[in-house]
Amino acid sequence: MDAPRRIVIVGASLAGLRAAETARAAGYDGTLVLVGAETHLPYDRPPLSKAFLAGEGPSDEPFFDGVDALADGLDIELVLGQPASYLDTQSRQVGVGDTAISYDAVLLATGSTARRLKGTDHLAGVVTLRTLDDARAIAAGLRAGSRTVVIGGGFIGSEVASAARDHGSAAVIVEAAPVPLVRAVGQMAGAWLSSLHGRNGTQLICGTAVESVIGSDRVEGVRLADGRVLEADMVVAGIGADPTTGWLKGSGLTLDNGVRCDSTLRAGEHEWAAGDVSQWWSEDFDRHLRIEHWTNAAEQGARAMRNLLDPDKAEPYRHIPYFWSDWYGHRIQLVGLPVGDPTVVTGSADSDKLVALYREGNRLAGALALNKRSDIMKYRALIARRADYSDGLSLAEQRNAKASGT
Ligand SMILES: Cc1cc2nc3c(=O)[nH]c(=O)nc-3n(C[C@H](O)[C@H](O)[C@H](O)COP(=O)(O)OP(=O)(O)OC[C@H]3O[C@@H](n4cnc5c(N)ncnc54)[C@H](O)[C@@H]3O)c2cc1C
Repeated sequence: MDAPRRIVIVGASLAGLRAAETARAAGYDGTLVLVGAETHLPYDRPPLSKAFLAGEGPSDEPFFDGVDALADGLDIELVLGQPASYLDTQSRQVGVGDTAISYDAVLLATGSTARRLKGTDHLAGVVTLRTLDDARAIAAGLRAGSRTVVIGGGFIGSEVASAARDHGSAAVIVEAAPVPLVRAVGQMAGAWLSSLHGRNGTQLICGTAVESVIGSDRVEGVRLADGRVLEADMVVAGIGADPTTGWLKGSGLTLDNGVRCDSTLRAGEHEWAAGDVSQWWSEDFDRHLRIEHWTNAAEQGARAMRNLLDPDKAEPYRHIPYFWSDWYGHRIQLVGLPVGDPTVVTGSADSDKLVALYREGNRLAGALALNKRSDIMKYRALIARRADYSDGLSLAEQRNAKASGT
């Protein structure tokens, strides 16, 4: 196959940016077009629910280093402010507004889109947290001391509640499930982590669905299924995200919880996908995975571009998932896959310091750490080597002995 001379990247965020940088770093000197739905240059999302929300103003806006130089320094054609509306894999074109942008190869990096609360589009003050504009609105609400209800006790909702405490106010979190985060970390770990809320002054209401959001033009409150009404000036929906694939319907690519890719991140003859939007065949876990983690988006963007530039030498994307979250000054980290309930091997939930391991058959599948930053990457390396669960226990014994000086 001829090397591509015209590459289009759709999605101007982490995966798309890393892909563009990788192309130029690899010496690619053809045309590179970066299409982004937002008007902003690429910026980083994790700080939007952490330092930026907790901070005092626009100076904390987390644009990636060097993005000002994308057009000149890296010679990238930026097409910002309008979403791509279709992909035609036969004629090899991406539609943006009235323009059809042709490609030799395309890299799809359109990420994921926050789910909205049904029936609330007419209500000011009901927001999601996915974009810089969302974060600006929520930060302004927190700074103004808004009474805030967060719907969903997942990672993003929890970080918003934590940021509210930094502003001296207290959000209320409403979670429909009896325990938050069960799919993300398991039932037991969900219970340990969510206990941080009560201990830091955030009310967490579990096992109660939202019946309706009250207000005519502006939100005034949230009515729960048990009849309670929570007054609110701002409601933040933290109810998950879906891969942004709507615009790819009819493209001929396989869309199934993301863009279906092989292990090299290839989705079609001239099409590749990376980041939150990609569902790839993981050779590390022998299954399809789609994950919404920063490290994955960055590494996939780079790998997909290397493979796109030289498909004959394409390599499988090897990656052990890694995710972190910060609540009330506590660092939560997860590596690998959270299968079932983990077993604590270091520390304890009571001390707010622990490592817990997940097992799948005999294999060490994942590890969760709370305030144990130095341990977690060691378990990640074991998982990458397909180590047995017993190897995880041996590592824990060594770490515990080292920590206690025995
Ligand atoms: C508030 C927040 C906090 C987070 N915190 C953490 C964390 O602590 N740890 C962690 O590991 N991960 C975290 N994440 C997840 C991490 O940020 C994502 O995994 C990462 O941003 C994914 O990068 P991406 O480039 O694949 O997609 P995205 O960052 O979603 O970017 C996709 C881009 O494509 C654009 N786009 C969409 N559709 C189109 C279209 N049709 N045409 C053109 N452009 C389009 C979008 O506007 C967007 O700019 C967080 C995410 C959010 C939102």
